[in-house]
Amino acid sequence: MRIVLVGPPGAGKGTQAAFLAKNLSIPHISTGDLFRANISQGTELGKQAKAYMDAGDLVPDAVTIAMARDRMEQPDAANGFLLDGFPRNVSQAVALDEMLRAATMKLDAVLDLEVEEDEVVKRIAGRRICRNDSAHVFHVTYAPAKAEGVCDACGGELYQRGDDSEDTVRNRLEVYHTQTEPIIDYYKAQGLLVTIPALGEVADVTKRAMEALRK
Ligand SMILES: [Zn+2]
Repeated sequence: MRIVLVGPPGAGKGTQAAFLAKNLSIPHISTGDLFRANISQGTELGKQAKAYMDAGDLVPDAVTIAMARDRMEQPDAANGFLLDGFPRNVSQAVALDEMLRAATMKLDAVLDLEVEEDEVVKRIAGRRICRNDSAHVFHVTYAPAKAEGVCDACGGELYQRGDDSEDTVRNRLEVYHTQTEPIIDYYKAQGLLVTIPALGEVADVTKRAMEALRK
């Protein structure tokens, strides 16, 4: 199966991608992993990407597309793959279609993890992390510490990461709306879009997605 997973920040996309890929026995291909692998292996594409990132610029679509193509040509992706973070705009989606067409392949489905925006903000902005151990995670509403601002596990100070502030989250959602949401319409027009309500337990969301894919 060849699947694209889309969804706003805070929809639990990375977690779902890992579970779905495992259930379907296909590789999970994320843009983040592609960048990291190419940079750490010092590939030509990795060097190009790094130069842009070091300068604080976005990596151009052509570089991302070439990395994705390389990865999809690996033997473990012969029977399918789950793409996460790619395509992230319509021009990347068009490039992906062209790539697949050239290999006489096509996508089977595009899963759209749907969450309510205020809920995403609440989930992320309420997160508190322990200064001693970033694995000690709390949430002001859903998993509050016994004493405010103090880690239950080790007594460390709890803080909110800069990335988790409400302003940052709203900003990331705005970027998602402008750049990535148009691909949802693009795939809807191709009859590939499957919308999955992404609230609730991780396992329930995976189950919903697997049921939708069987249809
Ligand atoms: Zn702690």
